[in-house]
Amino acid sequence: MTNHFGSVVERVVIKKGDITKENVDAIVNAANSHLRHGGGVALAIVKAGGIEIQKESDEIIKKIGMVPTGHAVITNAYRLPCKFVIHTVGPIYGEGNEDEKLHKAIYNSLYLAHLYNLKSIAFPAVSSGIFGFPKDRCAKVLIDTAIEFLESFQTSIEKVVFCLFDDETYGYFEEYYKNLL
Ligand code: ADP
Repeated sequence: MTNHFGSVVERVVIKKGDITKENVDAIVNAANSHLRHGGGVALAIVKAGGIEIQKESDEIIKKIGMVPTGHAVITNAYRLPCKFVIHTVGPIYGEGNEDEKLHKAIYNSLYLAHLYNLKSIAFPAVSSGIFGFPKDRCAKVLIDTAIEFLESFQTSIEKVVFCLFDDETYGYFEEYYKNLL
């Protein structure tokens, strides 16, 4: 189906699955400001990819201090099938201006992938787990940001995957995406 977004919407893919198994150039980690990958998708990434991801993250923290909310940094992916892990810090629900901060976290992740000349990137539902951001709003912010980025940029990124872990989250993303077609 065609629409005013043209083929940009078709470069966005919604799927259910475990992001650590994604065969893309970079997967995104829903990190905290200290890059302590102790729970949720962050722990799954370190378990699957290796402790080197935590060590490289610790080196970044030593160099730059904390990673502010809305920003993103990149490490190697070691034993993961992807090439890089982009660690972004989404907002904690309740801290204020969450939608803007989540938009910034996703935008900066895409921009970092673009700077590395990457072709494909996969996101989990950043902030919607331990950080408590409502899943339906998360779907809207993440998909809108990806489309805005792909529309406004001549970018190396050909494909943006949203890889959702559970049926409920997948349902919200699928529903919002369908309305854009
Ligand atoms: P945050 O602290 O930003 O909320 P979480 O890791 O708690 O981050 O959760 C973010 C999302 O990632 C949640 O929807 C959670 O279900 C999901 N998630 C957890 N493990 C995985 C995984 N292996 N692959 C994809 N998504 C995952």
